[in-house]
Amino acid sequence: MALLRKSMILHWKICPRLYESIWILKLPETASVVQQFGTMFHEEARRFFEILDYEALRKCPTAREAYRLFEKLPLNHPAIKPLLANFFTFEASRWEYVREKAKDPIFWWKPVACELELSVGDVELHVDRIDRISTGTLINLEYKTGVLWNISDLRWETTFYNIYINESKRFEEPCTHIGAYNPRLQKWFEEQCSQRLIKRTKRLIEEFRNAQTFPPRQSNFCYICPASTRCLEEGIFNELQTSGLNKGTGNNSNGGELLER
Ligand code: SF4
Repeated sequence: MALLRKSMILHWKICPRLYESIWILKLPETASVVQQFGTMFHEEARRFFEILDYEALRKCPTAREAYRLFEKLPLNHPAIKPLLANFFTFEASRWEYVREKAKDPIFWWKPVACELELSVGDVELHVDRIDRISTGTLINLEYKTGVLWNISDLRWETTFYNIYINESKRFEEPCTHIGAYNPRLQKWFEEQCSQRLIKRTKRLIEEFRNAQTFPPRQSNFCYICPASTRCLEEGIFNELQTSGLNKGTGNNSNGGELLER
């Protein structure tokens, strides 16, 4: 089997045949607009921390002043301007909070890593971001830019990273927390990664590794599926009732997010 990536499991959870089309048969995908926005946002968020004048930030006592500093940065791709404005608000309030609490706020506010590629055994990870938290440990934070926000899916996705970040031993401190941030919905969550969640995610990985057949799982996701051409050509929709699709059958709760990356 090829190196394992989180998106493989994500695709497989949505529809085993989707996974087979993209990762085993390597059929061409249809890139979506949402996916392109997601890629742009990831790149701009990475550049944000790279080009920011940290000495100037140190002199900003409030979120409002930090925001003014952020908006002067040359990160103005018109297509994602609203996402960046929300991202600046999110980071500016984080700055004000950390500045009030910490002696060295830059140390605590600045991520430890952004857009990090890691290999652990046969697993490849693309971690969006890792931050320090007040417990002295780390949190891995996933960016989402789609319109769906499903905490249960976000939990296993971020736990997947959490497991392998710790196995990689790349950082001195353990990664104890998981979180996600969505600049489109201006939502975020963070929590400690429980042993129960780690066990459940390991079970899911095992189940994925043992999968032998990849049947189609029709759902509303078929309407936006990047691998639908194969299903159309092979006529698997012929017997499909529209009402079946509208029922949203199958586990596709994070389908919209899939298109981001
Ligand atoms: S079109 Fe539907 S059934 Fe076909 S691969 Fe995509 S999600 Fe699965």
